Amino acid sequence: MTLHQPPGGQPLRSVDALVEAGLVAPVRREALQAVADRYAVSVTPAMAALIDATDPADPIARQFIPDPAELVTLPQERADPIGDEAHSPVEGVVHRYRDRALLKLVHACPVYCRFCFRREMVGPGGDALTGEKLDAALAYLAGHPEIWEVIMTGGDPLILSARRVREVARRLAAIPHIKVARWHTRVPIVDPDRITVDYAQALRVPGKASYIAIHANHPREFTADACAALARLADAGHVLISQSVLLRGVNADVATLSALMRAFVENRVKPYYLHHPDFAPGTASFRLSLEEGQALVKSLRGHLSGLCQPTYILDIPGGAGKVPVGPAFLSSCEVPGAEAVVEDRFGSHHNYPPD
Ligand SMILES: *Cc1c(COP(=O)(O)O)cnc(C)c1O
Ligand code: SF4
Repeated sequence: MTLHQPPGGQPLRSVDALVEAGLVAPVRREALQAVADRYAVSVTPAMAALIDATDPADPIARQFIPDPAELVTLPQERADPIGDEAHSPVEGVVHRYRDRALLKLVHACPVYCRFCFRREMVGPGGDALTGEKLDAALAYLAGHPEIWEVIMTGGDPLILSARRVREVARRLAAIPHIKVARWHTRVPIVDPDRITVDYAQALRVPGKASYIAIHANHPREFTADACAALARLADAGHVLISQSVLLRGVNADVATLSALMRAFVENRVKPYYLHHPDFAPGTASFRLSLEEGQALVKSLRGHLSGLCQPTYILDIPGGAGKVPVGPAFLSSCEVPGAEAVVEDRFGSHHNYPPD
């Protein structure tokens, strides 16, 4: 594996920068520029250093390097695949489920994932939620006592300064009915040095339980620096949970998924959601069938610790919400007196109750 640039430095935010760093062959410049004109590009130094440019199937490159396949949008693909807009009462808030709401603090991310479900909404520039807009969003949360949990997302809220994050945390702390604060982020993995001890502390919401959902998709993303960042977050008292997307060509095989889930658990991150990919524009090359996904999740159940089991989740296209779509181990039973047939991890069937 080659180290393309020294640690530190700026993210690669253009096709030219990717070519210069040796991550993209110059002959591909024009084809990739057409993609970059349509969807934002950014690769952090930490992720650039992980890419093996000699491997055309490199799972890290596949997540971040633009691909001409993105320019093909299928009829079932949507700009707003999970129907957030219909549930947005004020700018920056999505309130679809009664007891919890999203607070979208910023549109930008440290990296731009080629499979992102919000890819039409995220990108550099765009306004962060500040001033009167932030006031209005917080007033909405304060005015809805049924909201028990607030989920900070975007974009990636951890690109904000410690000062801004501390301010949001302090203002959430003042809303009595909010008991849980959850941050969704890819920063600890893709830009781990941002997570200093001070920053980890800034993310704490005084008096509330704080959860951080860590987005990672491949075991190689757990560099020594990323593991150290996760440790700083856990040591600061946050509960860490995982979030991954099941992606063809990145992690859609038993060995990779197993190593990914173990990497989370070894770093005190409890596997939470494994998302079936959404119908975001230009993402067909990443998708697999629900049946393939279920078979993979079933084999995890067969040979990994219970701690390593994520919930396989589908966000129903159009806005009906999330549902678990994991494999079923129960089926109905024809045998008189038996309630069900249960399948064990070897594929053998057992009547329940036993006969
Ligand atoms: C995904 C999502 C949540 C969080 O759902 P959980 O199942 O609690 O993780 C909340 N609100 C919206 C609008 C969402 O899309
Ligand atoms: S970090 Fe999240 S929001 Fe940002 S591009 Fe990746 S998947 Fe999308």
